[in-house]
Amino acid sequence: MLEIAALDKPAGILCRHNTGQACGIYPERPEACIQWHCLWRRIGALPDALRPDRSGVVFALERGRPGADATEGACIVGRALDGEQAFARWEAVEAFAMFVREGSLPVWKAYDRHATLMHPGPDVPGR
Ligand code: SF4
Repeated sequence: MLEIAALDKPAGILCRHNTGQACGIYPERPEACIQWHCLWRRIGALPDALRPDRSGVVFALERGRPGADATEGACIVGRALDGEQAFARWEAVEAFAMFVREGSLPVWKAYDRHATLMHPGPDVPGR
């Protein structure tokens, strides 16, 4: 459960518009919701074990690095939902490795208000 600033919804709190089956304001949902894409639902290569409620990590395509106020360009963010220990699970390790190998977008690991850039690393030319 991610932070949605437009709704004053902190991370970790269920959205008041969640009906239990769908978004109760889907046609009018905030831009942050429109722009957010869960990669487990979109990428067939990701195993069932990586479903966010099973793995504790949600991978998403986001519009800027974690915590940035402005959009800075697309990146992949793997966010631990209930604790950093979820990053140690094999399915999360494999997924981070896959996104880093693919290499077309920056990859961030995030938990709470902390974020670590996984890719590109410091040895990439032009950084
Ligand atoms: S999509 Fe709807 S239910 Fe989900 S966080 Fe946005 S407003 Fe809330």
